[in-house]
Amino acid sequence: MTNFKVGIIGAGPSGLAMLRAFESEQKKGNPIPEIKCYEKQDNWGGMWNYTWRTGVGKYGEPLHGSMYKYLWSNGPKECLEFADYTFSEHFGQSISSYPPREVLFDYIQGRINQSNARDYIQFNTVARWVDYLEDKQQFRVIFDSLKDNRTFEEYFDYLVVGTGHFSTPNFPYFKGIEDFPGAVMHAHDFRGADQFKDQRLLLIGSSYSAEDIGVQCYKHGSQSVTIAYRSNPIGCNWPEGIKEKSLVTHFEGSKAFFKDGSSEEFDAVILCTGYQHKFPFLPDNMRLKTKNRLYPDDLYKGVVFNHNERLLYLGMQDQYYTFNMFDTQAWFARDYMLGRIAIPEKDSRTKDIKKWMDYEEKTKTGADHVDFQTDYIKELISMTDYPDFNVDKVSDMFKSWLKDKENNILNYRDQVYRSVMDGTQAIPHHTAWMDEMDDSLEKYLEESVVEKAEAI
Ligand code: FAD
Ligand code: NAP
Ligand code: MG
Repeated sequence: MTNFKVGIIGAGPSGLAMLRAFESEQKKGNPIPEIKCYEKQDNWGGMWNYTWRTGVGKYGEPLHGSMYKYLWSNGPKECLEFADYTFSEHFGQSISSYPPREVLFDYIQGRINQSNARDYIQFNTVARWVDYLEDKQQFRVIFDSLKDNRTFEEYFDYLVVGTGHFSTPNFPYFKGIEDFPGAVMHAHDFRGADQFKDQRLLLIGSSYSAEDIGVQCYKHGSQSVTIAYRSNPIGCNWPEGIKEKSLVTHFEGSKAFFKDGSSEEFDAVILCTGYQHKFPFLPDNMRLKTKNRLYPDDLYKGVVFNHNERLLYLGMQDQYYTFNMFDTQAWFARDYMLGRIAIPEKDSRTKDIKKWMDYEEKTKTGADHVDFQTDYIKELISMTDYPDFNVDKVSDMFKSWLKDKENNILNYRDQVYRSVMDGTQAIPHHTAWMDEMDDSLEKYLEESVVEKAEAI
């Protein structure tokens, strides 16, 4: 059955994966439902669509972007590669394993530009509110078209939420922080290391944002970087100039006091304390309520909302795998909506969700987390015709990435991996990551070409 209507909210990697999944079906000559996608920004790409703005966008909406200047992939690109569109196909040459943001943005666009996906997307349009009409079994979604300041509504038989979950800061309070004289910001508002040159920087939190913002600021000339952890330190071999400490208890002026009894003066504080899953357009009974974890509760196969089978979420998990995981979810979502995958009754779904959540509870190390997400992806791939790829090999790459970081946080991005999709061996970037201050696509590619020419 294809005479139904699908609404997709968000045109980031997840929303675009959904469009691509339907497109691949259409290319086979099969009918697809009516599809509409709505994106509040003026372009696609989600997080990868960089903005210098902080706070609000040009139409006054809460700003989505959390990326910053000099952001490079923090995992090997071979781990996120699309199975149906390789890096070699896109760039026509081998590139390094850890490209900067603009290069990955270009890659994302390369695949979607092959289709007519843009025709399905309404940009500058924000989803404001969703009602589920039981009698019609339809969603009524209220949107604002931001450019012309106009409200309108649409009806859908299925609603796919791909709005991401790294945009709304988790902003904890520390006593005395309101009187800290220097800059205080959340990682969401961090737009580049330059402004922290020569400063003594305090980062609170001990995950990817703390790790990367810390290393970025070190690289771009901060005087010192101190990372304060709540549960566990990041625990890599830090260079002189970066150190980890126990959590801050309070501030007095520019001085931070730590749990271990020590205190130190700082010039700036960045809260790298993660994000909240936030869906202001959904009523409470359709809202996914979860912390950042590998298997959020209430999502059957990590996708179908257990309390309303017509509501689907993409990309809501904590992420080792990214682009190809969104793909496997989107292919599953497509086949489910097309009626090719039957899902069991709610009780069985709840049991299945619990099984995965129990499994997650048993994971302890980073390697365990990778194994978990690998198993999850394998299951999804087995259910659809998303091109099969050697997920176990990707899992091995993730594990060696974890080791590379532990060994040397400053040069892990200089390592190279081999694509499991087409066997292409990555080449080292022309400049060691610590010495590369230019993260533009032009510099990244131009120089590679020059290098190649020199090698001949
Ligand atoms: P997003 O990319 O967040 O896209 C969601 C889209 O939904 C946005 O375009 C947004 O404007 C739109 N939207 C939101 N609300 C509404 C609404 N109400 N109405 C209409 N549209 C709406 N992943 C990697 O693989 N490698 C990395 O190196 C990496 N670095 C990262 C660095 C940072 C700082 C952050 C925060 C994340 C990083 N990620 C990285 C993970 C990143 O989240 C994923 O790569 C990917 O962008 C997630 O895609 P998504 O489509 O689910 O969400
Ligand atoms: P995250 O992984 O969810 O981590 C949140 C951190 O905040 C955890 O260390 C947590 O500590 C800490 N925290 C939460 N509340 C706290 C509190 N009250 N006090 C102290 N600490 C608190 O979030 P993230 O690090 O922002 O990463 C988000 C995403 O961005 C990831 O997908 C990551 O890959 C991506 N990212 C990528 C790059 C890149 O270089 N490409 C850079 C930055 C971010 P506990 O362990 O105690 O819970
Ligand atoms: Mg398959």
